[in-house]
Amino acid sequence: MQELGDIEKQPHKKVKKNEIPLEFTILATHNFARASIMRLPHGEVQTPVYMPVGTKGAMKGVTYSEMDDLGCKLLLANTYHLAYKPGGDLLEKVGGLHKFVNWKHNILTDSGGFQMVSLSQLSEVTEEGVTFESPYDNSTMHLRPEDSIHTQNQIGADIIMALDDVVRTTTVGPRMQEASERTTRWLDRDIEAHKRKHDQNLFPIVQGGIDPKLREQSLNDLIQREANGYAIGGLAGGEDKVDFWKTVAQCTAKLPVNKPRYLMGVGYPVDVVVCSCLGVDMFDCVFSTRTARFGTAFTDNGFLKLKNKEAANVFEPIQKGCQCQACKSYTQSYLHYLIARKEVACHLISIHNLNYLLQLMLNLRQSIIDGKLIEFTNGFLQNWFKNEGQIPQWIIEALEYAGIPVKQL
Ligand SMILES: [Zn+2]
Repeated sequence: MQELGDIEKQPHKKVKKNEIPLEFTILATHNFARASIMRLPHGEVQTPVYMPVGTKGAMKGVTYSEMDDLGCKLLLANTYHLAYKPGGDLLEKVGGLHKFVNWKHNILTDSGGFQMVSLSQLSEVTEEGVTFESPYDNSTMHLRPEDSIHTQNQIGADIIMALDDVVRTTTVGPRMQEASERTTRWLDRDIEAHKRKHDQNLFPIVQGGIDPKLREQSLNDLIQREANGYAIGGLAGGEDKVDFWKTVAQCTAKLPVNKPRYLMGVGYPVDVVVCSCLGVDMFDCVFSTRTARFGTAFTDNGFLKLKNKEAANVFEPIQKGCQCQACKSYTQSYLHYLIARKEVACHLISIHNLNYLLQLMLNLRQSIIDGKLIEFTNGFLQNWFKNEGQIPQWIIEALEYAGIPVKQL
């Protein structure tokens, strides 16, 4: 077995042909929850893990070297932005995104589909692919499964995503069924187009909205394709929280135990804790840095709005004991003052929020290993909802299902 130290000595490790570029080892469990090690071409990742999102190949407000300092081992980059600039051809020429941005750890790229639909005013989906109006200029662009995979092969991330037919989570009826079934047909084209199976892992995305029958069908179809890991898509789109957790639970119960599961677009601290308990291993969300841009920081007691004038008189860090650059150096009062100079404050609060989530995952993971997930989860919820006075019912139900009795406040 290769030790972590060996991987760090050879960060740009080449994986031999015919070797699976992902090894997933479960160290401890609590019912559905797992603490694992995911070994990828650019080193080990401890899961459950939160993946920061690096839009356009650079974190908004945070540099790659700062991400490294925070202990991040896997981050997400957006194919759509990279394909536009600097472009897949250039990235291929320089040897991929890792080399281009000097990131020695792992990268996951999305398929570009979601960005495309969310950014575009007009998009049209046919069996062939998606046609949409570019948000950069007035040109029309086409994205087929083959195009997405080709660009992701050029970028060279350790994990790449299948192109799915994206519809709003709350969509019902024939359109949802069509999207779910088309996602499976596109997956077969993705697999066919994938030219780097020896060093890039293609994750299919389970679809089906909040309809248990469609989810079941999608799960069956995708599991048959025997991928190295699976993503759960189509959630965190404004659906009811009960539908949300039940759909996550349905997916984690059915997906292969020995492969990582990635819940897309979920990164709100409470959701991340609950879904880790339900058996999810990977999360991503732009929320931590987006909310930082509006002056909101994560703390053990919930969200702290540094814009509020009360912060001007608090001469303590955002979170006592936090080891991030913002908390080690500055008071809430100073950060409140800095918010007028947007970029600096955004940078510091982003670092804090990313550090908060990365640490939250490490602590949760350690509690699974120590057999203390019940205590950890209760402690987290008691603190998080202290100011609100009660823990929402859906959380209590979801955790009870996961074998974690929760004490109401
Ligand atoms: Zn901090």
